[in-house]
Parts: sequence; structure tokens; C-alpha cells
Amino acid sequence: MSLPTSCIAVDILSIEEIKAISTKKYEQAVLVFGSGSNKLKVLCGDNCQETWAIMPPLNVLIQWLSQTKICFQEAIVVHNHPQVPWHGEIIPSDNDIVSTEFLKWQLALLGITLTDHTIISGDKKQSLAEINLYRHNSPLKVSGFEIKRFIYCFLVQASVVVETTGSVLEELIDALEKNLDRIRPYYENSHCCRIFKTKPVDDKFTKKLLTLGTSDPVINKLINFFIDLDDGKRFKIKPDKVIPYGLELQKKFISATYKLR
Ligand SMILES: [Zn+2]
Repeated sequence: MSLPTSCIAVDILSIEEIKAISTKKYEQAVLVFGSGSNKLKVLCGDNCQETWAIMPPLNVLIQWLSQTKICFQEAIVVHNHPQVPWHGEIIPSDNDIVSTEFLKWQLALLGITLTDHTIISGDKKQSLAEINLYRHNSPLKVSGFEIKRFIYCFLVQASVVVETTGSVLEELIDALEKNLDRIRPYYENSHCCRIFKTKPVDDKFTKKLLTLGTSDPVINKLINFFIDLDDGKRFKIKPDKVIPYGLELQKKFISATYKLR
């Protein structure tokens, strides 16, 4: 089964791994990635909280992608609503909707389009796209700070699989890791809280980035992209316009020419 046309038309419950979670007593999400005729799935957690299950950490996504030799372009996410507390209801929660936008973001960084998010319960299913609660190509409504955070994560994770090019990149990675530590408590809040509540105070991290550079043009593009971002500014931008070189980065992850740090 190929994914790109199957996201809405095909009965997703015919996918074995998705059928398996439809009657589980706890919430679980399945991500299915597609590339032409190829498809692969990944299960995100056995007994984890809903939002985590729908939006696995970026490092989990990248670790998984770096282990495969396929460059993916599309993905769908499916999660189940158990009888308790949902009583078979497949109505998307606010967190479901917000989490989908975040996942869209994360996958956009990797050059992957999230085509839909479907909720299942037993034999019932509800696609967010079908009821206009999700559009894969709609502008992302995020703040500059959120964008920065995603790219911080991305660069830190990229540093694990992208060959380092000297002390400058090492310094950048150290700075990124420190900054991630600083904002981690803030990100322990739910996705809804992150969007609607306050952000941590910024330090001079962006200025530090200005002094850094690498010989890797793709990494340089990423750095330049967020140097200009205003933390508090609200953005509406199309996913494919945000990180148009996401596929290049994904190729780096699956390329044998890049080695582990
Ligand atoms: Zn849900």
C-alpha cells in the first residue's frame, strides 16, 4: 500500500499495526512514513501520555530515520481513544489538534509532510483532515521562539549524525545543548501551555550564533534562518517554506558518508 493517496481513501484499520492499537486500554500513537511505494511504521511508546505519543521527541524521530536507508516524504499519525475515559468517542481533543501542528513542524524540519492525523476507537475512525481540523499545507501558527526551539533541537540532534567539521561546530553544539537545558523546564508544560502561556526570558544566544559558522552549507542555512527571528513575533508560514532543505538533512542522516560523533 502506498501512502500518499492512502491517507484518506484507504481504510487505515487494514494496516495491521494500527488495527492492533484500536482496542488498547491506553493511548498509543503509530506513525507511518511513506516514500513512493515504500512504507514503514514506527510505534511511539507502549504506555505513554497522549501528547508524547502523538509527538515523539525530535531525537527519537531522527534516530529512527538515521537507521533506515529510505528518504521519506510523507507521514500519517494515528492514535487511539480507549474506552476509558473516551467511551468510544473519537472527537479530537484540543491537545490532539495542537500536537498535530507540532508534529507537522517537526516533520517539516525533516522534509516530511504530515498528511493527516486520524483518531481510532474500535472500528470507528475520525480523520482530522476530513473535518477541517488539520491541513497539511496550511500555514503554521507559531512564535519565533517556538521556531528557534525546534531548530535548536534539530541542530543538536543533527550534530550526533552529521560529521563535525572542526572546533567551530563543536562550540555551536555546546551552545545549543546549554540553551536546550535552559528552556527544558518550560517545555515540560503541555503543548497548549507552550503556545498560550509565557515563554522563558531569552539570553544572548542569538548573538553567540552570529559569531559561529560551519563549512556545512545546510547547517549554515538553518543557523541563518533563525538568527533573524524575533522571539515574540507570531508567524504564519507554510511548512515547505520553513525548511525547504529538510530533505537534504534527512539524506545526511541516512548517508554512509556521515559518521557518528
Ligand atoms: Zn486524542
